[in-house]
Amino acid sequence: MRTAEIRKRWLDFFEARAHAVVPSASLISPDPSTLFTIAGMVPFIPYMTGQQTPPWKRATSVQKCVRTLDIDEVGKTTRHGTFFQMNGNFSFGDYFKEDAIRYAWEFLTGSREDGNLGIDPDRLWATVYEEDDEARELWKKVTDLPESRIQTRGKKDNYWHTGQPGPGGPCSEIFYDRGPQYGAEGGPEADEDRYIEIWNLVFMQYALDDVKAKDDFKVVGDLTAKNIDTGMGLERVAFLLQGVDNMYEIDEVRPVIDAAEKLSGKRYGADHDDDVRMRVVADHVRSALMIIGDGVRPSNEGRGYVLRRLLRRSVRAMRLLGVEDVALPSLLPVSKDAMKASYPELETNFEEISRVAYAEEEAFRRTLAAGTTILDTAVSKLKAQTPAGTGSLVLGGDAAFQLHDTYGFPIDLTLEMAAEQGVRVDEQAFRTLMQEQRARARADALAKRHGNVDVAAYESIAQELTRPVEFLGYTQHDATV
Ligand code: ATP
Ligand code: MG
Ligand code: MG
Ligand code: MG
Repeated sequence: MRTAEIRKRWLDFFEARAHAVVPSASLISPDPSTLFTIAGMVPFIPYMTGQQTPPWKRATSVQKCVRTLDIDEVGKTTRHGTFFQMNGNFSFGDYFKEDAIRYAWEFLTGSREDGNLGIDPDRLWATVYEEDDEARELWKKVTDLPESRIQTRGKKDNYWHTGQPGPGGPCSEIFYDRGPQYGAEGGPEADEDRYIEIWNLVFMQYALDDVKAKDDFKVVGDLTAKNIDTGMGLERVAFLLQGVDNMYEIDEVRPVIDAAEKLSGKRYGADHDDDVRMRVVADHVRSALMIIGDGVRPSNEGRGYVLRRLLRRSVRAMRLLGVEDVALPSLLPVSKDAMKASYPELETNFEEISRVAYAEEEAFRRTLAAGTTILDTAVSKLKAQTPAGTGSLVLGGDAAFQLHDTYGFPIDLTLEMAAEQGVRVDEQAFRTLMQEQRARARADALAKRHGNVDVAAYESIAQELTRPVEFLGYTQHDATV
């Protein structure tokens, strides 16, 4: 089943159950406390917290999301994209747990002829919060799920709140068993790569106070208006239904892997590291496409920096695949064609989107060229200063740091190019300098955050806020990509 078909079935299903179909909000988060929209409920935050009265009791959407927090997972796990789409159904003081569970079960396991997904119920598992007996009983009452496939989790995994006094409540998550060839028996508790999390149901029912941490808060009462907030990962369901191994191989993403294969002359599936690179390229090119499409432009801070990094990492991964020529003109149109069924505006805006992306690739190519000159000079100097036969040559961490800081040179590139000239790099010193810089940036971000009064800050959002700062640094991931 094509991704666009799953999306359509989703919206039809909930529309038939009296949900208002609300178009996706922009990736530029409507909530000021995050850079990007990270979940389907973000546009509905004012309704959930009671700050505004919702125009409908029930709503559904397919929300464009970006989670930079997941960037290190991309291409390595089967299921984390920097860009993805979250299908959501929401109740604002209307239906609650029983219907949320019933709808989810019906949509997943109901027959395809009737517009559902027709998933084999024997593949599904659920988790419930340890004190939420009501949810456990409802799973048994309104679905065929046997008790043996309901697992219990604590606050860390199955409780949601904003990180501030206000609404909160338990969650119940649905997992899909890919089968014994993907890992150990035992449900999601045992193996989250075999049992893929596909859908999170949040039951917002309590008023919380003294919120100190994810698992440290006090329940002070019941909410008069209880809310439902759910999120189903569209790409995850698509990959499971399309019989492929991961979300980068679905119809909306895979064509870019094919294009990267063609450009590089390498075969997908032949080498693990190359496969990761191709998946990173396919993911990042798509994210860049969608982010530029929503009006972000490359820059050295905030969203623009995230975009810049995504584009640079794509180009860099292509280089590691052996492609020295410009790559984006062969990749971006492919991603656009794969996405335009769901986002027709990409076609109309493509001239502008591609102009932005191609200019950034050109700029990075110049950066690479300039950085190369600096590196070569530093290596020659080092060689001249070191008498022959005195052991291995080591380039100082400060040179690597300068290359990174001034020219945006990823450390792995410095390492690789130095190695080609028989020189090692003091990576430890480089990492220390990076950490110092990161600590400074984090302090700045915290200062900014405290200056921001109206923060409906969710815990994950708060994490996301500090993340772009870490994002400034090249993390371990760059060592392989
Ligand atoms: P995971 O534990 O796999 O990282 P999560 O618990 O962080 O997922 P939620 O915040 O519960 O995810 O989001 C709701 C749903 O959105 C998930 O059940 C999943 O299907 C999907 N989802 C979350 N993050 C991603 C991602 N990075 N790429 C693709 N789908 C995602
Ligand atoms: Mg996650
Ligand atoms: Mg999870
Ligand atoms: Mg979850």
